[in-house]
Amino acid sequence: MSHVMNTYGRLPVTFTHGAGAWLWDTDGKRYLDAVAGVAVNGLGHAHPRLVQAIAEQAAKLIHVSNLYRVAEQEALADRLCALSGLDAAFFCNSGAEANEGAIKLARLHGHNKGIAEPTIIVMERAFHGRTMATLTATGNPKAQAGFEPLVPGFVRVPYDDLDAVRRVAAAHPNIVAVLVEPIQGEGGIRVPAPLPHYLQGLREICDAHGWLLMLDEVQTGIGRTGRWFGFQHTPVLPDVLTLAKGLGSGVPVGALVARGAAATTFTPGKHGSTFGGNPLACTAALTTLQVMAEDDLLGHALKLGAWIVEALRERVGGLPGVVQVRGLGLMIGIELERPCGDLVKAALARGMLINVTQDTVIRLVPPLVLTADDARVLVDGVATLVNEFLACRAAA
Ligand SMILES: *Cc1c(COP(=O)(O)O)cnc(C)c1O
Repeated sequence: MSHVMNTYGRLPVTFTHGAGAWLWDTDGKRYLDAVAGVAVNGLGHAHPRLVQAIAEQAAKLIHVSNLYRVAEQEALADRLCALSGLDAAFFCNSGAEANEGAIKLARLHGHNKGIAEPTIIVMERAFHGRTMATLTATGNPKAQAGFEPLVPGFVRVPYDDLDAVRRVAAAHPNIVAVLVEPIQGEGGIRVPAPLPHYLQGLREICDAHGWLLMLDEVQTGIGRTGRWFGFQHTPVLPDVLTLAKGLGSGVPVGALVARGAAATTFTPGKHGSTFGGNPLACTAALTTLQVMAEDDLLGHALKLGAWIVEALRERVGGLPGVVQVRGLGLMIGIELERPCGDLVKAALARGMLINVTQDTVIRLVPPLVLTADDARVLVDGVATLVNEFLACRAAA
């Protein structure tokens, strides 16, 4: 029996190495990776420039501590602020930590305004992490069950429903912020209809009440949707932005980026992290951003993602049992009428890694370096799987 704690339902496969969008297992079998470490490996596997940058940095300095100035951290903060239009960054090691930081920042913002019990609006089906505060912010009762008491200071409203937010605004004097994903990832690749309208509406409500608009772009950020950040498909700027997953291409690094007053809310002693922003993690992130810019992986992701969605719509969109094919960039969902978790194993057997979320949504978040040939293989494989799945359900 394994001594690894039993917190995941794992598939019986172990990978030894990868290249681009492909992975090899211990038997030498090859898989097309449309999971990418759950939207982490934007540069794919074993990207030579990332490998070299990490190796060179490791040979110089891995970690020093935030007791000192860290040049790579300052460079990464500069870069993230230039790309986002925000003003200052704090570095941590994961998405949950980035959101935990955002929640603390919002509370401090509230206390600075004399609100003793600051409250944050969060969404149904949201996913923000597994720490106590981010688990509370997460809109999944199954994930929360058994961990009560949850953390006070949150109110929940339906996603993509501006009127629900307006009703809370009218009824609740203690709101200080809205925390929301521009597109819900774990929640089933839910794209607000339309995205600019939703974010602009939230921006207006936040401005009218002095609330912070805090976007959790842990999954949508770093090129995933075909722009650096999901909000860049809209005219809206958030006050607070959280990042992780794709930022370090697999080297753990998260960031909390803020603008205006929110950029100076934290002062020494208010927040920190031992590992956060160390030279190795920041080098991985800087190199990730550099390769994405130089190779125009954003434009590539936007175009290739649109092609995949269109191709999947043609192949499976009209089938009875398929609710919708949707997505933006290389963040793609196929919602079926029935639970389809079994598809993950069927895909594995055929040499393809896919993911299913919310029981009924096939999630495709392949590396941004996916080639047009890879995309054809992916569409072909997924369309075949979905066809077989629906045919066999129909027969049963
Ligand atoms: C994955 C994810 C998180 C949590 O990130 P961890 O690194 O697992 O803590 C938070 N928010 C969103 C939107 C995510 O997709």
